[in-house]
Amino acid sequence: MPRRAIYPGSFDPLTNGHLSLIQRGLKLFDGLVVAVANNPAKKPLFTVAERKDLIRQAVGDDPRVEVDHFETLLVDYAKKRGIHTVLRGLRAVSDFEYEFQLSNMNSKLDPDFESVFMMTGQDYFYVTGSLVREVASYGGDVSGLVPPNVAAGLAAKFGTPRR
Ligand code: ADP
Repeated sequence: MPRRAIYPGSFDPLTNGHLSLIQRGLKLFDGLVVAVANNPAKKPLFTVAERKDLIRQAVGDDPRVEVDHFETLLVDYAKKRGIHTVLRGLRAVSDFEYEFQLSNMNSKLDPDFESVFMMTGQDYFYVTGSLVREVASYGGDVSGLVPPNVAAGLAAKFGTPRR
C-alpha cells in the first residue's frame, strides 16, 4: 500500500518554502496530494486554478505529486480522499501554537486523522505567502523566495517589471 499524505495550504502563492517541504515530504511518503484551500473569505491574490497551475508547473511532471483543491473542512476532504495523514510545516514558534490547536481540533473531529510536521531549514523560515505578496506588490525582488514561474505570475498580477 503506498503511503500518501495531504499537504494542505493556501499556497497564495507557492513559495520555495512550500517546495522545500514538498521535496522533503517525498522522502517520508510515496506520494503527496498538494491541496489548495479554497477560502474566498481570505481574499486570495491568485484564483484556485491559478494557484494549482503555478504548483503544477513548479513541481513538474513528478507523478508522486498530485495537485488538487478543497473547500470543505480538511478532515472531510481527507476522508473523501481516503488519506488520513496531513503534512504541515513549522517555521517558527508562532506557527506552533496555531498548528497545535489545528491538529488537536482535527483529531477531535476525526480520530483517525494524523498530522506530521516538518521544520523549515534556515533558508526559508522567514518566507510566508503574505510577505511574498507584500514585497512583490511594491516591485521588490522575490526571485530567491519563489520559483521563477511564480515570480513571473506575481509581476504580471502587480504590473511590475520582472527582475
Ligand atoms: P503561508 O502561511 O505561507 O500563507 P500556507 O497556508 O500556504 O502558508 O501554508 C501551508 C503549509 O505550509 C503550512 O503548514 C505552513 O506552515 C507551511 N509553510 C509555509 N511556508 C513555509 C516555509 N517557508 N517553510 C516550511 N513550511 C512552510
